[in-house]
Amino acid sequence: MSTALISIGSNLGNSKETVAAAIKALGQIEGCRMTAFSSLYLTKPWGYKEQPDFINCACKIETTLAPLSLLHRMQKLEQDFHRVRNLKYGPRTLDLDLIAFDDVVMHTKELTLPHPHLHERAFVLIPLDEIAGNFVISEHNQTVNELCSKLTCEQKNEVKICDR
Ligand code: ADP
Ligand code: MG
Repeated sequence: MSTALISIGSNLGNSKETVAAAIKALGQIEGCRMTAFSSLYLTKPWGYKEQPDFINCACKIETTLAPLSLLHRMQKLEQDFHRVRNLKYGPRTLDLDLIAFDDVVMHTKELTLPHPHLHERAFVLIPLDEIAGNFVISEHNQTVNELCSKLTCEQKNEVKICDR
């Protein structure tokens, strides 16, 4: 069994509903069991700013799948939610990022682990800290909680908890 940390984001359509449906769908992937998911957070867009705020959430999955197989199942889910992929860092119905997979380090075209931007994204770290603060992120050799505490106040202020 492996542990996978996944970040969920949405800023098009009914994002709260989409994120709730994505949590359910992730837990139903064959060979996966959802063991924790965070509160929902309202967050400022990263990269391209002229777009609606995001709803973000983090979840923890126990899985028998290999990292790439899990990513492919996540991408299939994104397609099922009619993700339109036009602008890099632009609006999306559903974005699923694989943040970490046990202590696996890999750098391939299709999959980078741990996720290359995790340490600079408050919208990833703050929800994750709620459910996996003690998880050690390989490469950084720091826990989620330690990485989270290095965010600036300005970064933290862009992430507000909202109801589940
Ligand atoms: P972002 O999530 O950074 O806004 P995209 O979702 O558009 O960007 O990026 C998806 C691409 O990133 C896919 O082609 C996928 O193969 C690649 N990728 C590399 N590493 C990861 C990862 N850890 N999680 C999700 N996608 C990844
Ligand atoms: Mg993505």
